[in-house]
Amino acid sequence: MSLLAISGLETFYGASQALFGVDLDVAEGEVVALMGRNGMGKTTTIRSVLGLTPARAGTIRFGGADIRGLKPHRVARLGLGLVPEGRRCFPNLTVAENLLAAARPGRWTLAGVEALFPRLAERRGQMARTLSGGEQQMLAIGRALMTNPRLVILDEATEGLAPVIRTGIWAVIRTLKAEGQSILIVDKTLAELLPSADRCFVLEKGRTVWSGRPEALTPDLQDRYLGV
Ligand code: ATP
Repeated sequence: MSLLAISGLETFYGASQALFGVDLDVAEGEVVALMGRNGMGKTTTIRSVLGLTPARAGTIRFGGADIRGLKPHRVARLGLGLVPEGRRCFPNLTVAENLLAAARPGRWTLAGVEALFPRLAERRGQMARTLSGGEQQMLAIGRALMTNPRLVILDEATEGLAPVIRTGIWAVIRTLKAEGQSILIVDKTLAELLPSADRCFVLEKGRTVWSGRPEALTPDLQDRYLGV
């Protein structure tokens, strides 16, 4: 059974329609890539799932329950952990306080997250606002894990980071995958994304236009759907 199943999703910003029929599903333990050029609706799809920009039509089922129309805090409590674009943390809390503020019972504890990101352990007592961009991104991922989500959603988690930090974040994503963590991921680095993903969904102008295994996304298709 699908952990997350979206079909026929339509979402608007005011009078302007952004999604015209998005279909996507994530099975338990799967890493799914949500792809598409700029402005095609990836972030809006995520916002719709989380109830941040409620969908006007379509279905969203999570763990078998209909979650369309639920408020964001209720969706989060059902086990959706978002790592948002722009890595929002509490700037005036320490690293450890940021992590503990997100904690819910489960496999991921402060010690577990600090083992995954040794850099965060070193910076435990430091205010989040004093972290580098890469460290803030680690903290954002750590916070999502601390909620012990059934599904982690990563929206452009490696965007704008130094290459060495990006490499580290991809290694963490592979570790999570190996542990059976379900992940929905938006990222533009195809060279890292494709080998990490079990399946891909491609959006064009607010619609799902292609889905399949990453090896089926040929250079031709990449050029057609993702090329600039
Ligand atoms: P990117 O890769 O650039 O982040 P995306 O695929 O995530 O793009 P969205 O951000 O979901 O795309 O945008 C989908 C469409 O919705 C675009 O046409 C965009 O201009 C529009 N849109 C996004 N946010 C808003 C907003 N707050 N108000 C109005 N329109 C918006």
